[in-house]
Amino acid sequence: SFSAEVVPQAPEDPLFGLMAAYRADQDPKKVDLGIGAYRDNNAKPWVLPVVKKADAILRDDPNLDHEYLPIAGLVPFKTKAADLILGADSPAIKEKRATTVQTISGTGAVHLGALFLARFWTGTKKVYLSNPTWANHNQIFSNVGIPIAQYPYFSKETKGLDFEGMKSAILGAEDRSVILLHACAHNPTGVDPTMDQWKELADIMRQKNHFPFFDCAYQGFASGKLAQDNAAIRYFVEQGFELVIAQSFAKNFGLYGERAGCFHAVTGPGAEAESTITRIASQLAILQRSEISNPPLYGARIASTVLNDSKLFAEWEDNLRTMSGRIITMRKELRAKLEELGTPGTWNHITDQIGMFSFTGLSEKQVLKIREDAHVYMTKNGRISMAGLNTNNIDYVAKAIDKVVR
Ligand code: PLP
Repeated sequence: SFSAEVVPQAPEDPLFGLMAAYRADQDPKKVDLGIGAYRDNNAKPWVLPVVKKADAILRDDPNLDHEYLPIAGLVPFKTKAADLILGADSPAIKEKRATTVQTISGTGAVHLGALFLARFWTGTKKVYLSNPTWANHNQIFSNVGIPIAQYPYFSKETKGLDFEGMKSAILGAEDRSVILLHACAHNPTGVDPTMDQWKELADIMRQKNHFPFFDCAYQGFASGKLAQDNAAIRYFVEQGFELVIAQSFAKNFGLYGERAGCFHAVTGPGAEAESTITRIASQLAILQRSEISNPPLYGARIASTVLNDSKLFAEWEDNLRTMSGRIITMRKELRAKLEELGTPGTWNHITDQIGMFSFTGLSEKQVLKIREDAHVYMTKNGRISMAGLNTNNIDYVAKAIDKVVR
């Protein structure tokens, strides 16, 4: 039977546990900096105006049905999703050596990629994850039996990238390992390599014949510019790497619960490229069939409506600038307030880091204390979601951080 030895009680997901604790807190001053979802200046979820428009267009269509999608997903959505992540002029697209499968958002894409590599990767079956990384990476790769190793990423001293540590771990990894890279707006640190550093990493990975696995959950959130946030991926593709990409539309479209995302595989250039990608696509379809049969329809329809209409696309870019712009303003204000208060330590990392999150450098003890004393909720590693800050709570949060640091 399913005794406790056979099925032990699993620990609660830390992030969802934090959300529950926040919800249960009755204090009116409470602040949620845990959530990995955008909030507007009133701490409310923000349905992107362009998503509302796409939704209205879809609902107006009397012929809209609810049939199954093809196994690999909605074609006009996938095509534009590939253009977006690879660049419409990508050599991989022109040379027909990229394939795309629509997935259950970014999580499903990471999973499908992990499953594919577990089956078919003939190099070293080990994935190197940044330390720290999105916690779910560990579970997803473990679930398909791919062992996990780590490369250093975050420097506690500079609160920036530990580039030397990262390079030497990737150089020291067994040849032909899988290296998982956050394409932009690294979660949880908010620290990304510079373009020059990406180039150095590509050199090392080429030398070691490593396999790049890009996870891109925040395109448009880092710089506010879609084309800038995929620069690392474009560079690796231009360098001729064979690679895979997990792409999420949860954050940049605010389609969290609709689960819109894609998995892309790219092979290197050469005479065999097109037939290789056709074989890869056929195997991905088999895996997808046994896992989910067909991907979900509605989120993909919404994103597709926007991606395939130049006017709506321009509005989306504008909405993205609204989100990233508000986050950047909150970074500047939080840093300014902490510096004004003379809070011990340096706070430049708040504005140096980018994307949805900031790694404050607060210790676990301080995180628990600020939760207890000030009802400010953040993850134990000191990560704050910048989108949880707004003009109504930023003073309060800065003072609470100041108090807990002293
Ligand atoms: N990858 C990273 C690094 C993330 O931070 C997230 C979400 O927080 C995801 C993937 C997947 O998100 P979703 O499955 O909601 O698209």
